[in-house]
Amino acid sequence: MGGLPRLVCASANPDKVAEIAVVLDGLVELLPRPEGLADVVEDAPDLAGNARLKAVAVCAAAGAAAVSDDTGLEVDALDGAPGVFSARYAGEDAAYRDNVDKLLAELDRVGAVAPEQRTARFRTAVMVVWPDGRELCVEGSVEGVIAAAPMGEGGFGYDPVFIPTERDGRTFAQMGDEKHEISHRGRAFRALASALRERATD
Ligand code: IMP
Repeated sequence: MGGLPRLVCASANPDKVAEIAVVLDGLVELLPRPEGLADVVEDAPDLAGNARLKAVAVCAAAGAAAVSDDTGLEVDALDGAPGVFSARYAGEDAAYRDNVDKLLAELDRVGAVAPEQRTARFRTAVMVVWPDGRELCVEGSVEGVIAAAPMGEGGFGYDPVFIPTERDGRTFAQMGDEKHEISHRGRAFRALASALRERATD
């Protein structure tokens, strides 16, 4: 008995799985998503709802507790867009670079040029679903500003244009593993690890 909690990771995105594995290293034993599982249609109105859809589907397929996360970038000058549509902002199957280009074009279009007009945040909802129907949901977020142009080669998604306010002006793509200390996903998964620990001692 004892040992680390075991969770099947619902994400099929290798960039996200790699980050989650770093953050949960030594805290949770992460098992891979079952092969051949169809993509879950993420049509819930919010991040937690989409995370729940994915966790429920993977929990049912694997017959074991599953963990899922859903992330959105909210840009204030764009009334919270792209938000839940972050993955497909520039269209279904859009590449990361297409989404970044569209974001920069939209900010130009609304005349948001100065940094104080380009405030934004990443939000991540993490959901665990157990086979007996129990659920646990935690969140993490980080405030920042959208850069005028992409900077840096690391990370993925919108990282080259996201400058977290609590560091020195570098984008997430310029940070390497330092990103996890302050990122939405790092915070959400550390919150998950402590919530699981609390449950274990209940
Ligand atoms: P998902 O629904 O959680 O897979 O995330 C939606 C989209 O948000 C992804 O396709 C990425 O474009 C973007 N995204 C998610 N997490 C991050 C991150 O940590 N940095 C930059 N972009 C991210």
